[in-house]
Amino acid sequence: MTPNQLPDTYRHKGLRRKLVDLLRIKGIRDENVLQAIDKVPRHYFFDSSFLEFAYEDKAFPIGSGQTISQPYTVAFQTELLEVKPTMRVLEIGTGSGYQACILANMGAKVYTIERQKLLFEKTKSLLPSMNFRIRPFYGDGYKGLPAHAPFDRILITAAAPYIPDALIAQLKIGGIMVVPLGEFDVQIMHRLIRVSETEVLTEKHGSFRFVPMLIDRAKDV
Ligand code: SAH
Repeated sequence: MTPNQLPDTYRHKGLRRKLVDLLRIKGIRDENVLQAIDKVPRHYFFDSSFLEFAYEDKAFPIGSGQTISQPYTVAFQTELLEVKPTMRVLEIGTGSGYQACILANMGAKVYTIERQKLLFEKTKSLLPSMNFRIRPFYGDGYKGLPAHAPFDRILITAAAPYIPDALIAQLKIGGIMVVPLGEFDVQIMHRLIRVSETEVLTEKHGSFRFVPMLIDRAKDV
């Protein structure tokens, strides 16, 4: 049971299995990612009145004008990230905490930043019941978490207008960053591999639609 006392029933498990089948059909191949989607109860991240939407392959409002990403998008970004157990992963845009739990379920040590205070407080109080290694921070994702760097992986789950230098600096050599890049309606999914101190390889992986990564100079991590 979670703080909002939702059980994880056979029906929920069945719906997750169907969602995993759908993600497979849509092209997700990484069995570790599919297994994490199968294991983490997405309905825990929904208010009880919206439970029936939890296992549709759709984004959904979570309050404060934000959304929990579509399961396909979560799976796609996670697959690109190539997460291995014990890796230190920084997520920008905690939102509901669902993506953070997927990463943690795969054995990553997750640090996650949220800039909206209300959302941060709500998710922070939910996360301990998930029993994962997740550290939530309230702050500005453009700055990252210099005190906890370097990271093996960095995942941005909001539309970034550009790639923040501070985040590249916090990525290990050989590390991977996944970021939806673009300011307007559509973003191009980018995968960056930091191959040396000064060199970054860039790949593009199709179009997606994210809520904007907001610039807020007033906040400090
Ligand atoms: N990963 C989330 C969904 C992310 S939605 C999930 O699994 O539910 C994008 C989130 O990024 C929102 O919660 C938004 O408030 C947050 N965000 C936007 N700009 C940000 C910034 N500059 N730093 C940190 N978080 C930011």
